[in-house]
Amino acid sequence: MISVDEARTKILERLRAVSTEIIPLAEAHGRVLAEDIIARRTQPPADMSAMDGYAVKASDITSIPATLKVIGEAAAGSSFDADVGSGEAVRIFTGAPLPAGTDTIVIQEDTERPETGRHNNNEPQNRNNFVTILEQSAKGHYVRPAGLDFREGDPGLSAGRTLSPRDIGLIAAMNVPWVTVRRKPRIALLSTGDELVRPGEPVGPNQIISSNSLLIAALIEQMGAEAIDLGIAKDTENSLRQMAAGAKSADMLVTLGGASVGDHDLVQSVLGKGGLAIDFWRIAMRPGKPLMFGDMDGTPLLGMPGNPVSSMICSFLFLIPAIDALNGLPPRRSPLRKGYISHDIGKNDQREDYLRAKIMGDEDGIPVIELFPKQDSSMLSPLSAADCLVLRAPFAEPAAKGSEILFIPLTAPYPNV
Ligand code: AMP
Ligand code: MG
Repeated sequence: MISVDEARTKILERLRAVSTEIIPLAEAHGRVLAEDIIARRTQPPADMSAMDGYAVKASDITSIPATLKVIGEAAAGSSFDADVGSGEAVRIFTGAPLPAGTDTIVIQEDTERPETGRHNNNEPQNRNNFVTILEQSAKGHYVRPAGLDFREGDPGLSAGRTLSPRDIGLIAAMNVPWVTVRRKPRIALLSTGDELVRPGEPVGPNQIISSNSLLIAALIEQMGAEAIDLGIAKDTENSLRQMAAGAKSADMLVTLGGASVGDHDLVQSVLGKGGLAIDFWRIAMRPGKPLMFGDMDGTPLLGMPGNPVSSMICSFLFLIPAIDALNGLPPRRSPLRKGYISHDIGKNDQREDYLRAKIMGDEDGIPVIELFPKQDSSMLSPLSAADCLVLRAPFAEPAAKGSEILFIPLTAPYPNV
């Protein structure tokens, strides 16, 4: 048996980043940028008004009230193109460029146009040609200078970034409609077992529903890769070999089940005859011990045990870092956090243990963690209800109620939005 860390290192050593492709920005959310973004535009492109009001010369309003002649209007998307002289003002709206000769905005709430009274948002039809400025506004106030956000040629985002909705907004503003990203890694999934049927299909008394492939496919999609479900292979040589052949164009084949040494666990023996070279097999962890990794005619193969909790935790520890590597990213580290255990727990054996648990509250900001009483690796109810996995090191000593333990959170209230 090898350790979780050793196994992960070996897997990552074998993987290379997938190629890149150019896609429309509108489809780029969650994708991994493969080329730096450079601004193709200055934003704002000119000095702009940040408010509705009047564009004035600051030197005209050093003493208030000051009455100025309104010589025109500028709204967003248009401009007032004549020079503004001393004693003059231009009615202006948010997002309009500052007319030449002006340097300051007075917000409309701080002005009065004598015949119509104070401005409100409903601009009166009948406008007086003069505006009285009632409040001081310092030079440059409410002006967004050209290039406040970025200038043409400025570096935007760097290759290797997973694009969030905010990033999409920035790239759009930089006037970059197409982006070069990593092609989505293609992960083929093959379930194995005579007992399995897909959800909704006719199911016999000795059969169970294949839940794993859907769970792992969802995880794969969430991690920025594409899941290709090859279906369920029977526990026969023929079926397994034929269906595994469907992984030819994939970046990785993940098999679910059949990873042990039982008479019906065929993945290693059957695929071994067909060109699978095993790199390692068996990890000192629970659940998930029979995990295997190898190469099948150039396609990396990750063989996971069939129990849903085992394959989920194996995916968490090995498949997610593998997807990161295929996306050209450094492997993300599972955040390890400190908590207090809510009850006594026994000592551990030689395998690293990942226990399903709930966060019950906190003590001075440190979460208090309760293990589910049943930790059977077939059980999906506690897996779904779990907030975290409590990590127990090999040979960990017994821990009394209230002692410190380490856990990996499974819930992230705010992913990278
Ligand atoms: P195996 O690794 O093939 O020995 O399977 C271990 C256990 O996991 C058995 O009880 C299987 O029935 C179960 N199992 C295997 N594959 C799946 C699957 N896709 N969905 C749910 N359970 C599975
Ligand atoms: Mg099986």
